[in-house]
Amino acid sequence: MRHLLSAADLSLDDALLVLDTATELATVTDRSVKKLPTLRGRTVVNLFFEDSTRTRISFEVAAKRLSADVINFAAKGSSVSKGESLKDTALTLEAMGADAVVVRHHASGAPHRLATAGWIGGSVVNAGDGTHEHPTQALLDAYTLRRHLRGGSGDLAGLRVAIVGDILHSRVARSNVLLLRTLGAEVTLVAPPTLMPFGVETWPCATGFDLDDALDGLDAVMMLRVQAERMHAAYFPSTAEYSRRYGIDARRLALMPEHAIVLHPGPMNRGMEISADVADSERAVMVEQVANGVSVRMAVLYLLLGGQKEGSP
Ligand code: ASP
Repeated sequence: MRHLLSAADLSLDDALLVLDTATELATVTDRSVKKLPTLRGRTVVNLFFEDSTRTRISFEVAAKRLSADVINFAAKGSSVSKGESLKDTALTLEAMGADAVVVRHHASGAPHRLATAGWIGGSVVNAGDGTHEHPTQALLDAYTLRRHLRGGSGDLAGLRVAIVGDILHSRVARSNVLLLRTLGAEVTLVAPPTLMPFGVETWPCATGFDLDDALDGLDAVMMLRVQAERMHAAYFPSTAEYSRRYGIDARRLALMPEHAIVLHPGPMNRGMEISADVADSERAVMVEQVANGVSVRMAVLYLLLGGQKEGSP
């Protein structure tokens, strides 16, 4: 595979290869010298047209641990803010010899355009496009679920996961539904009717509107951020009403089996989709998700850039 644009690009074997490679590469993080020479001489460009904290830093750390050269290209402060098009930006990157372009864009489909228009020769990795997809987030979530609930190997057959909240504006939800299904998990989306996407009945998952009803028997719950910046209408009456019906708090945590864990892609709205005590509880794995993100992104860059040909970890 040359690009990673959608979680749907990954077959079960591909997904397991990424997760297994990430498990191997995670051992690098535990060493005192946290570097492998694998991508020495390769250039990875982080092309971010939208704000990001975790994802951009995570890709940067991942590329650097594999000894790649990293160029961070933020749209703010570049000629993009003067109106330079995606095409001209891509041609500039190509002239600089980018082997991989990690792109985040506010328009759904921008990474796909970059990969298929013939403007650049390197690999394109989708780091979040509009409300469409965020495949490396789904991979790091699957990695985290596998580590906690499956002993760190194999698929996720039979695992019961609910994804809760602002599904309508979430690229994390779509990528997770696709990847978790590929890995054999059973996914239920829970949201107010106003935040359920049009056509959701064609997605490979169940849907529900009542969070309390969904919690019994779950292995994990994935809370989504309410994406106020993408909301141009009133989707629910108030924050208090939203968190009362769709937020996770200590009472709801107690309705889940004791082994069940809570995930959130970040950034969290504490007091909205997640209460502070749940966010800080031992069953919430957000900090670990961030650490796992580095290993998974190392694996993606390693596999896409053909690192395995030049010596395995
Ligand atoms: N960080 C994730 C994303 O970029 C989730 C979020 O922003 O709520 O999609």
